[in-house]
Amino acid sequence: MPLCRVCNGTFNREQFIHGVGPRAQVCVRCGVESGMVTKEEAASLYGEDLSAARLSTVSRRWGPLITISIGWILWITFLAGNPPWSLYVLGLLGLGTLVTPVVMIAYGPKFRSDLDRLTPAYDRPKGH
Ligand SMILES: [Zn+2]
Repeated sequence: MPLCRVCNGTFNREQFIHGVGPRAQVCVRCGVESGMVTKEEAASLYGEDLSAARLSTVSRRWGPLITISIGWILWITFLAGNPPWSLYVLGLLGLGTLVTPVVMIAYGPKFRSDLDRLTPAYDRPKGH
């Protein structure tokens, strides 16, 4: 993957502006911030709205799994061997552990389509 020579970030080829001289090897964010391209020209720039929407989509996807994992860690650390709450919480965690993968598999296509919808269309110019 190419390296931006302004911010030294490594991104996909789609995340770079096109041109020679000062515009060579510059990512869209640095290009917009330094005024080399406008926001409209940099179609693949993830603006604030788009970043927030993508973050929210990814959080909704992985949130339950992270919650269940943290729940298990807390249960093992604090609750194991302290009935009756250890048993109640164990039941909830067990149920969550069984249901979460099923829900994640069932909603996988929806997640991918949401993320595709939130990915800017990009036409690769000729020669790139
Ligand atoms: Zn950059």
